[in-house]
Order: sequence, then structure tokens, then C-alpha cells
Amino acid sequence: MLAGHRGKRIVLVPTMGALHEGHATLMRQARTLAGAGGIVVASVFLNPVQFDNAGDLATYPQTPEADLAVCRACGVDVVFMPTPSVMYCADRSITMEETHLSTVLCGAKRPGHFAGVCLVVSKLFNLVQPTDAVFGKKDYQQLAILRRMVRDLDIPVTLHGAEIVRESDGLALSSRNVRLTPEHRAAAPTIRRALLEAQAAYEKGASVAEVCRCVVDTLFRIPGVKVDYVELVDAETLHELKDESHMALLAVAAYFGDVRLIDNIELTRKA
Ligand code: AMP
Repeated sequence: MLAGHRGKRIVLVPTMGALHEGHATLMRQARTLAGAGGIVVASVFLNPVQFDNAGDLATYPQTPEADLAVCRACGVDVVFMPTPSVMYCADRSITMEETHLSTVLCGAKRPGHFAGVCLVVSKLFNLVQPTDAVFGKKDYQQLAILRRMVRDLDIPVTLHGAEIVRESDGLALSSRNVRLTPEHRAAAPTIRRALLEAQAAYEKGASVAEVCRCVVDTLFRIPGVKVDYVELVDAETLHELKDESHMALLAVAAYFGDVRLIDNIELTRKA
């Protein structure tokens, strides 16, 4: 796609559109990484292959005109906004399955999701040939799996993780937030409060089970909320925390009505 730019940094920000300040922050970070001589590419593609739920795909917000304005305002040089038929041949038959990190957390709950993510991101890497790509830590597991993909397949792209961008009340920005009812929108910052309480408890020595129980109990009290999972795992392996001197990840997924929200926090024991 962008042949002829050897020696310059090409920084890619993959998104599914309905762009918000979280995406904008990634794009500004990409702009800084690319520098004045580099190129920032944003992709806006609602990737059908990564949806395990047809209803979620059908109701996913799409705002292409506004997305272009966000990209422009953030100094993006090229916006790649393909249709599904441009991205996928009808008889495509190659899959990209990560077999360890994707067996837990969201991967356990959303079969095929991360295979779809790996497929589209590897295609975007081939099409754009970036030197760098920026992903948000909101999708912590996604970033870990993509780091594994790049490592195991020797893909020459440097990945950068960006911190989670939040509303002033603590709710992590998400394209799906616009689908929350007013009641659920008002209750959704409870996720962040529960994670911060859990962080304080973990730092004071609470056990893994106690920390998870505390978050589940808090979310359980919100009417209409169904907890998908609350897990405290090793932040690197995403599996059981065997050594508490390692960084831990407390990750949550919960349905507010039919809107699935995720959030996470990194935890360390205080000496
Ligand atoms: P999506 O459009 O939801 O696939 O997200 C595209 C990229 O933006 C992914 O790397 C996400 O992790 C990142 N992202 C989405 N929401 C946020 C947020 N609130 N803070 C930081 N990054 C985010």
C-alpha cells in the first residue's frame, strides 16, 4: 500500500470505527511516534470475522464521516476504510489461531474472536507494512496475543500499548457505550470503582479469591448486570498467578443489558 517510504516510520492504528477519545489518543501517540517525516495510517474496519455474536455486529455503531474528522484532527495521513468484500475473499480458508493466551478471559467466552483479530491485524500489517502499530491496553488480552503473534511469526512491526482513556467518572471509553441505557450508563462507572477498591485490597494483602469476590459482589448488586467473568491472572501469561511478585492483571467483563463492557487494572503487591 505505502511502498516507497523506506527509512520513514509508518505507524498504524487499527480501529473498528465509531471513534472516540480513546482512539484519538492512540492516533496522537502514533503521530508523535511517526514524527514529522513519518506517516500515520488509521484503519477503520468493522471486522465481521472477529464477532462471535451476530446481534453485537448488527448493532455496532458506525459513524464514517465523524471518524474521518477525528482522523484528520489527530494528524492521521492515510485512512484505510475498506468494505468486508475488499478485505475478504468469499472462499477465504486461512485462519490465524493463537492457542495459549486466547484460551482464557475473553477468549474463553468469545469463541473465534481472537482468531478473527489476528487474521485482520496480520492482513492490515501486510497491506500497510507499518514499522509500528499502536493498540490500547483496554483490550489487554488482544495486545498480549498480538505481541505473541508478532514474536512467533517474526513480523517486523513494533507494537506500542496505550493506557486506557476514561470518562471523568471512570468509565473506560468504548464505542459500545452509546448503546447503554441511561440507567446502565449511570451504573457503569461502578466497574472502575470496584477495580480500584480491589487494587487497594490486593496491595494490602487480600488473596486472589477475595479480590475477585469483592468485584463480583459489587457488580452483582447493579440491577440488570450479568458478570461474564472477573479474573485475577498473571499479567504476562494471562493464566494463573503462580508468583505474586509478578505483575497481576485484574480483568472484568460484564453485560449491562445486552452491552458487554470490559475493563482491567494492573496490580502489584506492595512490600
Ligand atoms: P476498537 O475500535 O474498539 O477495536 O479499538 C481500536 C483500538 O483502540 C484498540 O487498540 C483498542 O484497545 C483501543 N481503544 C479502544 N478504547 C480505548 C480506550 N478507552 N482507551 C485506550 N484505547 C482504547
